[in-house]
Amino acid sequence: MAFLVRRVLIPDLVLDARGAKSGLGVTIEDGRISEVGPATAGERLPGKALAPGFVNDHSHTFQRGLRGTVERIEPSRPHDDFWTWRERMYELADGLSPDSIREASRRCFEEMLSAGYTSVTEFHYVHHYPDGTPYEDPNSLSKAVALAAEDAGIRLLLLPVAYARGGLPRFRDPTVQSFLKRVDDLQEWAEGRSLIEVGVAAHSVRAVPRAWLEDIGAYARYENLPAHIHAGEQEREIEECLSEHGVRPVELLAQTRFLGPSATIVHATHADEHELDLISAHGASVCACPTTEGNLGDGFLPAVEIRDRGIRLSVGSDSHVRVDPFEELREIETNARRVTGRRNVLVAEDEISPTPYLLRAGWGRAGLKAGDHADLVEVDLSHPTLSDVKTGDLPSALVFGAGSGAVAGARVAGERVYG
Ligand SMILES: [Zn+2]
Repeated sequence: MAFLVRRVLIPDLVLDARGAKSGLGVTIEDGRISEVGPATAGERLPGKALAPGFVNDHSHTFQRGLRGTVERIEPSRPHDDFWTWRERMYELADGLSPDSIREASRRCFEEMLSAGYTSVTEFHYVHHYPDGTPYEDPNSLSKAVALAAEDAGIRLLLLPVAYARGGLPRFRDPTVQSFLKRVDDLQEWAEGRSLIEVGVAAHSVRAVPRAWLEDIGAYARYENLPAHIHAGEQEREIEECLSEHGVRPVELLAQTRFLGPSATIVHATHADEHELDLISAHGASVCACPTTEGNLGDGFLPAVEIRDRGIRLSVGSDSHVRVDPFEELREIETNARRVTGRRNVLVAEDEISPTPYLLRAGWGRAGLKAGDHADLVEVDLSHPTLSDVKTGDLPSALVFGAGSGAVAGARVAGERVYG
């Protein structure tokens, strides 16, 4: 008989999207929350608030290696933009090995845990040797990322990414069948690994042709997997899509049936009204990566239009120029204020503050509840950014006035992995 581990954590406050309450305990059994309710006996967490862990829904761990190195103009390329940044990113990607990607990923995952992210969606597109030859195990690099997540203790949704054209040879698979075979094998390998789940992705409408989108969409539906894709990050991508296909990127995703309830559109920065209508009608999600989108000069996503349509929103730290969920959320609302010239913009129906909407986007849930994974963060209530904040104002103070420095600890499946 399996030994059931049961413990009760009693912080000063339990935080949810709308507020904070004292006198509550969070009971954890077998890695999941079994109860949130009044409690007096258990493990006290003095000076701490307990909150759901943040979900980092879009990451390329290795790009953290660019931090601090790309914030200057190369004299040979005086016009610096997304496309010149991409050249630097390719140079970094070309030098990766299974060992170095595992090490870079572990460091990145550890930083995420320290910042309050307890799960991450890794959009992984570096697959083969630099010349495009597959490794003896064609999933070596994907597995290296997964092992790094296990090393760090973070929950991982691993997305092997299809790449048919452009980019580097090591990103590309010769056929969609050979790509999907690798996804099959990876799913099998990940079975029984409690922190690892496998989904599927296509890099972008630039990197894969129409037929691949159809096949990957069909595979995701058949296997019931989440399917992600970058779309609408840059105007040039939209122009190229229009000239190749006669439609905009999200329209192509709808035509090819890639778009569906399990699909996530990463960025959607330049999505127009019709594309947003399609995302909404198909029940798909949008992942915003504001610190990266700002750093790359991409633009700002149509946040008000996304909120108005009830499109599910998540956030990602993408290039890891900064790893801080509070800052991602703050950027969404602050940019919406800059654009509209108003305050408290992204307020959901029946609410008066954007904070609950933003926290739900960051957590992928509204608060701690029975049945969920016990993926938790501890917030340090004595942190200088939070001292003197009244209990009722704590969620907004976190989103608008604090940062990852206020995170004192993180637990994944109930196990302490940071702090
Ligand atoms: Zn990305």
